[in-house]
Amino acid sequence: MNLRWKLLLSYLGVVAIALIVLAAATAAVAPAAFSGGMGMMRRGQEGGNRAPGQGMGMMGTGRGASDETVTRIVADLNEEINANFRQAVYGALLLAGGAAIIAAAGVSWWISRRIVQPISRLSAASGHIAAGHYESRLPVETGDELGELTHSFNRMAEALAQTEAARQQLIGDVSHELKTPLASIKGYMEGLEDGIIPAAPETYQLIHGEADRLQRLVRDLEELSRAEADQLNLHIVPQDAGAIASSAAEWIRPQFDERGVALTVLPLAPPVQVQADFDRTRQVLLNLLGNALQYTPAGGQVTLHLARMADAVRFTVADSGIGLAPEDLERIFQRFYRVDKSRSRASGGSGVGLTIARHIIEAQGGTLWATSDGPGLGSSFTFTLPLA
Ligand code: ADP
Repeated sequence: MNLRWKLLLSYLGVVAIALIVLAAATAAVAPAAFSGGMGMMRRGQEGGNRAPGQGMGMMGTGRGASDETVTRIVADLNEEINANFRQAVYGALLLAGGAAIIAAAGVSWWISRRIVQPISRLSAASGHIAAGHYESRLPVETGDELGELTHSFNRMAEALAQTEAARQQLIGDVSHELKTPLASIKGYMEGLEDGIIPAAPETYQLIHGEADRLQRLVRDLEELSRAEADQLNLHIVPQDAGAIASSAAEWIRPQFDERGVALTVLPLAPPVQVQADFDRTRQVLLNLLGNALQYTPAGGQVTLHLARMADAVRFTVADSGIGLAPEDLERIFQRFYRVDKSRSRASGGSGVGLTIARHIIEAQGGTLWATSDGPGLGSSFTFTLPLA
């Protein structure tokens, strides 16, 4: 049975119960009420007999009738009025019942239009979404619970559409990223088979390098998926901000020396404690310092400096490297976005380092952003971590 019929039946049920209760109440109360009324009349009549001249002339009891005759006439009258009353009440109830049933049918039709129709539309749209058509949206026509439900449905559909778009984008990006190293490995193998490429140690090193790139990509993707699912398992406790900075700087300093780029660390004095996961924050700093090194030519300068703010510590990695155009300052945090694809790929970058870094900083209650005066003018990457 559908909702329309259930609604109609519930209305008819209410009407039927009301009629039964009314009929039962009338049957139970009316005789007693009438007997009481007639009793009063009878007592009035008796009083009239005892005091001639003030009686119940209107009752039409004949002159000289005995008390017994009067009592019988009153009883007959009582019964007749009672019967007439019941007949009138039942007639009225019958009429009211008919009218109520018609009204119930009308109201249930109207209510069902207001309730059942939106629910049917929601159900149809849900089916549409379940079939993969995420563009389904419904108009919000009322401000009641049904309107709220429709609004929530639209929000859910929007979220599903975004997730689906992100999923498709990710699949496209990942397959694109896999294509290049796989194509090179295949090319080298075919060259080796055909004898075009010599089976020299350098060739094997090149193949090995491409395999490494694939491995790094897979590792980064795993890390990215953990970060996006908020499953980084951070161990956030009070940490010395300067200790994290110098640990990262000293670890990467040999690479700076090798490439001829100067690295300066400006720590905080006195030391300040931040709420952070030591290893993850160090990982972010290594990523920012590694990028600064990669995009700063030999002879350049990279500075890591810390500053204490009102409720946070600011870590800034500033370089004198190739800089960033204003339109790239935000885009570089999107996964797989690289300003110069060939340059980044050649150095083994998968293009997700900054996306992961931002997730890690935000999961610790901070923010990470980039600034630059423009291409060729160096760039700065800054993040905050709350004071402990
Ligand atoms: P990648 O693995 O390519 O380095 P990232 O997410 O770390 O990936 O960086 C994304 C892009 O941001 C890089 O490809 C590069 O174009 C740009 N970028 C990052 N750091 C710097 C920097 N210090 N100077 C200039 N460009 C940078």
